[in-house]
Amino acid sequence: MEIEYRKYDTLLFDLDDTLYPLSSGIARECGQNIKDYMAEKLGIDKTKILELSNSLYKNYGTTMAGLRAIGYNFDYDEYHSFVHGRLPYENIKPDYILRSLLLSLPLRKIIFTNADKLHAARALERLGLEDCFEGILCFESLNSTNRDNINDHNDEIFDIISYLSDHEKPVCALPKTPIVCKPSETAIVKALEIANINPQRTLFFDDSVRNIQAGKRIGLDTVLVGTSQRVKYADYALENIHNLKEALPQLWESEAKPENVRYSGKLAVETPVIA
Ligand SMILES: [Mg+2]
Repeated sequence: MEIEYRKYDTLLFDLDDTLYPLSSGIARECGQNIKDYMAEKLGIDKTKILELSNSLYKNYGTTMAGLRAIGYNFDYDEYHSFVHGRLPYENIKPDYILRSLLLSLPLRKIIFTNADKLHAARALERLGLEDCFEGILCFESLNSTNRDNINDHNDEIFDIISYLSDHEKPVCALPKTPIVCKPSETAIVKALEIANINPQRTLFFDDSVRNIQAGKRIGLDTVLVGTSQRVKYADYALENIHNLKEALPQLWESEAKPENVRYSGKLAVETPVIA
């Protein structure tokens, strides 16, 4: 029997707040840990941290990327272990519904997260999804370690708050970050190349509107997760990832016999990090 043409061959999933809900509180705790890192490790004035971290997140994709751009230098692994190490992972519960949905889908499934591999592995393990993905595209896939460069101190920290308060100053002239992360189009293109993904045949799931917009700009079809309100550039919107089959039944249609939908590797740590 001939296999009918299927529009997609790959599903690319963000992890945090996409495969488990925002209500887990992980994102909130992570945000607090980042602020604590800025105060304790970088010595930033506590009264300025909230505004600064929001501004960096907005302009650079992640606060971490922004901190590097404005002149702070630190070991990436140390940063990640500080902000993720004490997260309440027990708040992430096994998701048997999502697991059976994923395992029944005869398509490539890949994680694409800005987080580091350890966090991705832990979250997937808590969800019970560690063998549902072909691999993980994570921080380490797009960035090399910074361990050897941390003594290259920049004496001058760029004052982004003052800069942006002057409306005459162009945002495009902000200092550049060495960190590659979503929603930069460079990051998405690089991730697709690494995993040999054709954007024309891929559906990209993310809870972040700006990631969805960036994905659309480089040719991915997109699913905004966490809201039923579609935005511009989102081809679909799912309030919860569990609504996948109702919203996109075609993913299961005209399918070849499901083969290789289950990936070997018991532990998430063994889920290959694509680097
Ligand atoms: Mg997310």
